Amino acid sequence: MLKIAIDEKVIEDLLMSLAKIGQVGETGVSRMAFSEEWATAMDICRAFGEEAGLEMRMDAVGNLWARLEGKSRGPVVATGSHIDSQDPGGRYDGALGAVAGLVSLAALKAQVGQPDQTLEAVVFCEEEGSRFPTSGFWGSRGIVGKIAPEDLVTTRSFAGEPIGEVMASVGLDPARVGAAVRDDISAFIELHIEQGPILEAADLPVGLVSAITGMGQFEVSIEGKDDHAGAFPMDLRRDPMAGFAEIASSLIDHAHRLGRPAVTTIGQCTVEPGGTAVVPARVTFSLDARHPDPDAREKLYSTQDNLMREICARRGLGYTRKELINLAPCVSDASLLSRMKAAADDLEIPHLTMVSGAGHDAQQMALIAPIAMLFVRSEGGRSHTPEEFSTLGDCCDGTRVLAQTLYRIAYTQ
Ligand SMILES: [Zn+2]
Repeated sequence: MLKIAIDEKVIEDLLMSLAKIGQVGETGVSRMAFSEEWATAMDICRAFGEEAGLEMRMDAVGNLWARLEGKSRGPVVATGSHIDSQDPGGRYDGALGAVAGLVSLAALKAQVGQPDQTLEAVVFCEEEGSRFPTSGFWGSRGIVGKIAPEDLVTTRSFAGEPIGEVMASVGLDPARVGAAVRDDISAFIELHIEQGPILEAADLPVGLVSAITGMGQFEVSIEGKDDHAGAFPMDLRRDPMAGFAEIASSLIDHAHRLGRPAVTTIGQCTVEPGGTAVVPARVTFSLDARHPDPDAREKLYSTQDNLMREICARRGLGYTRKELINLAPCVSDASLLSRMKAAADDLEIPHLTMVSGAGHDAQQMALIAPIAMLFVRSEGGRSHTPEEFSTLGDCCDGTRVLAQTLYRIAYTQ
C-alpha cells in the first residue's frame, strides 16, 4: 500500500501561525467565534488551502471549506474540526483537527492527484460555546440543519450580543444560514486531541475512537426540614445534607464498581438556607453521568434514580430529579473504523481503540453521515487550558493516519 507522507514542518508552521492569533501568554490562545482573531485565523487557513491548490469557500454559517474535486460526481468524504477556542484555551483543541484536514488534502493532492471521490476539509466556525454560552457546535449544527431562525436572536454572547448580529459584523448574512446545510456527505472523520489520560498511560500516539459517550445532566433536589442545630435531637431531624452525603457516596461508589467507561460527577451543590447553626431545608446538586453504550447508559440512570429514591424515602426526604441535558451516545461507523485501523497498520503507527468522553462536532455530523474520530495523545490529559500540549511527532502521526485513511477511502488503489 502506498504511504501518504506528511511533512512535520508543514503541520508545525500552520499550527504555530494559528497559535499566534489571539495568543495569551506563552502558549494560551483566546480565539472567540466571529472575532477579529477568528477572522485572521480563517484567512490563514484559506491562504494555506489556496496555496495548495484547493478550492476554498466560506459557507453561510461561517465554516471554511477546502475542496479537492473527485472524478466522480458522487458524495463527499469530509474531515475537520473547529477553529474557536476556550477563553483562554490552548494551541491544539480544535486547531489541530482543522490543520490536519487541510494538510492531509494538500498532501493527497500533491502526492496522488485527483481522487475518485471528492474530499473536503472543513474548519468549523464555532464549537466551544466560549463566547455564546448556548451556541455550542454552531458550525456543525449549521451544516446538519439544526439552527432555527430564532436561534440567531436568542443565542447571545456573554456581553448580550445576538449571534446573528455578530455574524453580520464579519460579513456573513444570517438570513442565509439555511444555505450551509449539506446533504451530500457520505463520511466524516474528525481528528482531535484526546483531552484525557488514556493514550499517555498506554504510551501510544494515536487512538481510534469507537464511540463518543452519551451524557445525561440532572439537577437533583432533596427536601428536608430546617430546624435548630442545637435544639433538635438527631433522631427527630429530616436532614437533606445527611441524605446528600449518602447519595453522593453511593453514586460515586457505584460508578467505581461499574468501572471504565462509566463516569459520574457531582460538581455543584447548594445548601439552603446555609446557616452554620441551621439544619438545612434543601440540598440541590448537579449530577453528570456518561456511558457510551446506549443500554448501559439507560441502566446507569435508572439505577441512580432508584438509589436516590430509596435513600430519600428511608430518610423521610422529598426528592426531585430534573433532566437538563440528554445526549445519546454516538457510535463510530464500523467500516470507517476498520479503514482507520488499516491506515494506521499501513504506516505501522501503534494505536488503540477507545471511547471519547467529551463531546465533539462529529456528533452533530453523525446526523447526516457515518462518522469516526481519531485522537492524538495529550500531555497529562490536559485541555481547555494554555497548558495543553501534544508533541509535534504525535500531531504528525495522527495526521498521517488521517491522510492515509482518506487515501484508502477516496482513491482507487
Ligand atoms: Zn475541541
